Amino acid sequence: CGIFGVLGTMDAANFVALGLHALQHRGQEAGGIVSYDPDHGFNSARRFGYVRDNFTSQKVMETLPGALSIGHVRYSTTGSKGQTAIRDVQPFFGEFAMGGAAIAHNGNITNADSLRRELIERGSIFQSSSDSECIIHLMARSLQRNIPERMEDALRRVEGAFSIVAMTRTKLIGVRDPLGVRPLVLGKLETGYVLSSETCALDIIGAEFVREIEPGEMVVITEKGVESHHPFRPQKSRFCIFEHVYFSRPDSILGGRSVYETRENIGRELAKEAPVEADLVCPVPDSGTPAAIGYSLESGIPYAMGIIRNQYMGRTFIEPTESIRNMGVRLKLNVNRALIKGKRVILVDDSVVRGTTSRKIKEMILDAGAAEVHFRIASPPTAWPCFYGVDTPQREKLLAATMSEEEMTEHLGVDSLKFISLDGLYRAVGEAKGRDNDSPQYCDACFSGEYPVEPADQIEKGFEM
Ligand code: 5GP
Ligand code: SF4
Ligand code: MG
Repeated sequence: CGIFGVLGTMDAANFVALGLHALQHRGQEAGGIVSYDPDHGFNSARRFGYVRDNFTSQKVMETLPGALSIGHVRYSTTGSKGQTAIRDVQPFFGEFAMGGAAIAHNGNITNADSLRRELIERGSIFQSSSDSECIIHLMARSLQRNIPERMEDALRRVEGAFSIVAMTRTKLIGVRDPLGVRPLVLGKLETGYVLSSETCALDIIGAEFVREIEPGEMVVITEKGVESHHPFRPQKSRFCIFEHVYFSRPDSILGGRSVYETRENIGRELAKEAPVEADLVCPVPDSGTPAAIGYSLESGIPYAMGIIRNQYMGRTFIEPTESIRNMGVRLKLNVNRALIKGKRVILVDDSVVRGTTSRKIKEMILDAGAAEVHFRIASPPTAWPCFYGVDTPQREKLLAATMSEEEMTEHLGVDSLKFISLDGLYRAVGEAKGRDNDSPQYCDACFSGEYPVEPADQIEKGFEM
């Protein structure tokens, strides 16, 4: 998901809408904006679909006045399966002691089921099926004297991954979980402050990048400035390495590194680790593009656009049901036949999850008369589900969970298939010595099976680590 918040500028919700538009790649199912103004109190609008189709009309934006606003774009991970219900669209807000609060959450709470049971037993009334709503109820029940302290109290009970943008009637609040799994950055406008999942959304409103919120840090922002708190026991950070590979936009800066450059590095590493003789290097657009450029630069094999993407389709994987995802590939991608015919083609993609995309693309490329098809993948085999906010399917549906590299090659029917090694990926993100196996620098659970936070709810449901 994508989260964004603005304090200290007239009609803050307009800025939030723009910010969310720049974060649309992080979630396309639905979006919501909450604002506060003294005359109306909290105002909220939640809609299915793209930001540009919902939060550009004057009729909607007029209902969101005030100088303080937060928003969220949704990509469903937990909560309602299949189609999202509007009640699960964030931000959530609740009025309770001291005026209440609204929150937007990116990540996934790994002990949400047990928290929810406990809260319901004690009388909480849930409005949604979302794990994030627990935070509001925990805050409402806390006995602390002000809302930021209630939030600290609440979050100390919560396990898993959370980057949060929240607001009270007067404050904008940002928090990252102790491991800092999901991103969150601070920006500055001429007359106010901004919190955003990624830096690309600061650019769109002309905000200046100040810094990242640190893992385990809470910032409380008012007109007077930014106050920093550290409510959790300090831990070594474990940022999601897959943000570098796929999730973030290439024009964002993560941990001081350009995402684009990292992806190009991944392509270079891949070319070193898994060279092959071929005529063309083609990306599977758009997610494979920077890595394909890197592969081409390193190998000297010409880069070409062998697959053309229809710009008016969303990301396939983010469509929530399998049947839509299955069709999605053809609706979105088409082979550039004139270029491909008779050629030995290297296809570079960011990841293989179920293998749906790769299988369809291979068929399309062979139909177009390619002589050979070689897949090069910019991440190691995805063999484990993510429980921290990226929607990977159950373990059985992951191709790499049940098949070796050779079996996958055969299953996909390609001439070769190679994934970057985990060490190679770490080198590409700037860890010269590769992965520190005693104390990994990133979360890489979907590749390694080493979960930095125990997925308690999943274990209860029978998941075996
Ligand atoms: P598959 O078709 O193998 O199930 O999915 C892999 C494709 O989904 C890749 O092309 C990748 O770009 C795309 N994708 C979109 N969202 C995600 C995501 O959240 N995780 C992963 N691993 N891949 C995703
Ligand atoms: Fe990121 Fe994978 Fe860890 Fe999920 S499991 S947070 S996708 S690295
Ligand atoms: Mg892709």
